[in-house]
Order: sequence, then C-alpha cells, then structure tokens
Amino acid sequence: MNNIIERLKASDIRITPQRVMVYQVLAAGKKHLTVEEIYERIKPKAPAISLATIYTILEAFKEKNLISEIRIKFDKSCFEARVDFHHHFYCQSCGKIFDIDITPCAVLEKKEVNGHSIESLQGYFYGICRDCKTGV
Ligand SMILES: [Zn+2]
Ligand SMILES: [Zn+2]
Repeated sequence: MNNIIERLKASDIRITPQRVMVYQVLAAGKKHLTVEEIYERIKPKAPAISLATIYTILEAFKEKNLISEIRIKFDKSCFEARVDFHHHFYCQSCGKIFDIDITPCAVLEKKEVNGHSIESLQGYFYGICRDCKTGV
C-alpha cells in the first residue's frame, strides 16, 4: 500500500484514495483489465466512483508512464501496470490475454527501420492458448 503511494508520488501524481485504488487494482492483479473491469473491482469499496473518473485517472497514469494501454481486443482498451516492453497473446477461445516476452529482432534492437525511428511497438498475437488447446 505504501509502496503504491510512494510510486504515485514519485511520478507527480496527486494522491487521492480513488487514484490509489485504481493503481492498486492494476498492480495487484498483474492483469490486463478494461475500464469496466477496473470499475467492477473498485465499486464495492468506493460506490461514488464513476467510469468517467476512472478514465480520467487512467489517462493521467498513462501520461506519467505508470501504466500501459493495449488494444488487442480491437473494440476495448485494456490497461496494465507493466510498462516495460512486451507483447501480448489473445486467446480467441477463452478471451484471456497473456504477456509474451520474446527477444526483440534486429530491427527493434536498432530502433530504426527504413530510416524511421521506432519509439514503441506492441505485438499482438491471436490464437488458442495452452489451456484451451489441452482442454483443461
Ligand atoms: Zn484460452
Ligand atoms: Zn502485458
């Protein structure tokens, strides 16, 4: 809990109970959550919070590079507290999102392609996850 407050303070985020809760939900779950999922988790503790408030908080966090936004689901953004470079796998059967860590290719190591500078890249993989494949 204190860690979270320190982390937010270090990023110049003004501490409010709602902001701490939003970050806590993302940091604790180590998951990729939609705004609605974050809302569902916070609502029991803070009934006054609205979806719009959560959006605003997420925008502020994103600006400070505290969270990342992924659009692997096309129509819905997901958010996570992990901000280092990694890819994602989306299971088309169960809908789960997995973090994928693979070594960047030569192009990415150079951070340049055809003279263009690469600032970020998110690889999205689609398929059937391990669990769904084995029918567990
Ligand atoms: Zn699956
Ligand atoms: Zn991730």
